[in-house]
Amino acid sequence: MGVVDESGKVIFASKKIFDLLGFNQENDIREFNALDWIIPEDRTRAASDFSRIAQGSVVISSQFELVRSDGSRMPVEISGAPIRDENDRLYGIVTIVRDATARRQAEEELHAGKIALLNREAELNEAQRLAHIGSWEWDAVNDTIWWSNEYYSIYGIATDMPTPDYVEHLKAYTAESAGRLDIAEKRAMESGVSYEVDLELANPTKTTKWIVARGEAKRDVNNKICGLRGTAQNITERKKTEGQIRALNEKLEKRVAERTADIENKSMELKENQTALMNLVDDLNEKTLELELANAKLQELDSLKSMFIASMSHELRTPLNSIIGFSSILLNEWVGPVNAEQKENLASVLRSGKHLLSLINDVIDVSKIEAGMIESIAEDFDIREVVDEVVDTLKKDIEMKALDLRVRVQRQVLHADRRRLLQSLLNLLSNAGKYTNHGSIDVISEISADGSWIDISVADTGIGISETDLGRLFLPFVRLDAAHEGSIPGAGLGLYLTKKLVRDILKGEILVSSTLGAGSRFTIRVPVVV
Ligand code: ADP
Repeated sequence: MGVVDESGKVIFASKKIFDLLGFNQENDIREFNALDWIIPEDRTRAASDFSRIAQGSVVISSQFELVRSDGSRMPVEISGAPIRDENDRLYGIVTIVRDATARRQAEEELHAGKIALLNREAELNEAQRLAHIGSWEWDAVNDTIWWSNEYYSIYGIATDMPTPDYVEHLKAYTAESAGRLDIAEKRAMESGVSYEVDLELANPTKTTKWIVARGEAKRDVNNKICGLRGTAQNITERKKTEGQIRALNEKLEKRVAERTADIENKSMELKENQTALMNLVDDLNEKTLELELANAKLQELDSLKSMFIASMSHELRTPLNSIIGFSSILLNEWVGPVNAEQKENLASVLRSGKHLLSLINDVIDVSKIEAGMIESIAEDFDIREVVDEVVDTLKKDIEMKALDLRVRVQRQVLHADRRRLLQSLLNLLSNAGKYTNHGSIDVISEISADGSWIDISVADTGIGISETDLGRLFLPFVRLDAAHEGSIPGAGLGLYLTKKLVRDILKGEILVSSTLGAGSRFTIRVPVVV
């Protein structure tokens, strides 16, 4: 405490003041003017305070800064009041100086705290914005509602708009969501049960359609419920993803079900097929057995047929030989003259008889071969002689067609069935004559390099055979179209029989090459010694 006069001159100063300013008590107080202790910037204000007090005012807690003896500054609060003598003359101003360092510090801290709080709030706002989580509080005592910035933004409301009240706020949701939230909030308020509910907005914003609302009761110092607080988080994206996942799952489940059904069907089908297959195998076994029996019967029948044909043909051959013999005798006029017309008729009888005989001979041979009844007689003979005999037999027919017949066959002794070789070559040369109208026929022989095989070929410049027909040439009773068109006699047995004779009796093979319209070449290849 101190006393100063109107100009600030110190009349009295307590020890505390000296301590405060850092002066010794011994210093003469009259040396000081209180204004000197006040920092220059505050001096004018202090002087005006003094003069105001001198005029009768009381000043309480004026803030100043003092300069201490060591030059450091100190915040103080100065209160002052006038002291008057009995004549109401101003005696002095009593001043109370209080160290305001602590208070200033407290104020500064408060200020810093406020700034920190603001910063925290800004940070919280930022965090809420990033997390899409907004928060709110409802104070039941004062019935005030507070919303965070993000809470506003979730509902698409500008932050400077007034906060909607509870009933208004419920309208933000669909009726169903609002109903659930209302129940949850009332329960939280009544019995303090926290809640967490997914809610759908009635009028969704661009970014928010779904939120998850979490809430809990606020309690006062006496643990009494005094309000609610909660958060709302935008879960639209999550809901969307959940929806997509659900749809995907449903699709997947459907596909799995389809596949399973498919597999079940397939396995059922498979089972049915298996049964069918087993039945088929049974049937097949049965049929095979039947077939085997039928086959045995057929083979029996076949040899019976062959034997029948052979014996029938023999029966036919005998009268046919008479027909041929007697018509020939008549034609040669050995029993008397015949006129031209009779000659022609007799020639026709003879030709038909011969044709029939050759056909019957072929049939007999085929039957015998098929019945395995033909026996082979091997002997030594000269192939050249056999070829000459063949040529002699057919020479007349060939020359009649003005074909050039050339024979180039070496002498070569073979050991084989002479009669069957002769028969085979007769067939080939006869065909060459029948199916050649212009050009030539060549009969050629060729011995293999090691001398073990001989080829006897009959080549003509006749009508030829197409490539497709070559395959069926050796089948029984097959005559190619050209043979029919030319009304050339034949039954389609010659080549079939020849092949059988060459293979089965002569142990060789028959080869053919031909060009349609250019000619054919048939070759009998047989071993020199069977
Ligand atoms: P065919 O009695 O009809 O002459 P083949 O068995 O000897 O019976 O001959 C079968 C068929 O092969 C004949 O009808 C004919 O169409 C054909 N053929 C046989 N030899 C010749 C050949 N040298 N040139 C052309 N076609 C031939």
